[in-house]
Amino acid sequence: MSDHHHDHDEAVHEHRCDDAIAQIQAFLDGELDEATVARIEAHLEDCSPCLEAYDFEAELRKVIAARLRDDVPGDLRTRITAVLDRLESEGGGS
Ligand SMILES: [Zn+2]
Repeated sequence: MSDHHHDHDEAVHEHRCDDAIAQIQAFLDGELDEATVARIEAHLEDCSPCLEAYDFEAELRKVIAARLRDDVPGDLRTRITAVLDRLESEGGGS
């Protein structure tokens, strides 16, 4: 009896893995409703493969966000400054 229940439980668990993995992006984007967030959080708590996938994705986003914050504006500013410098020396110089 409990064996039968266990089988069923595993099948549900596998399905929830697909579900959780498929929604990690939306989860991190904050696009999910509260019920779905709660379901995925509960799943991540007792499923280490999914938690690892989630951690990896979250970490990746942090790195990308940090890069966007730190590098791109600085790089863009440098480029704009370089272009302005060139325009200035080409146009207004001699
Ligand atoms: Zn899982």
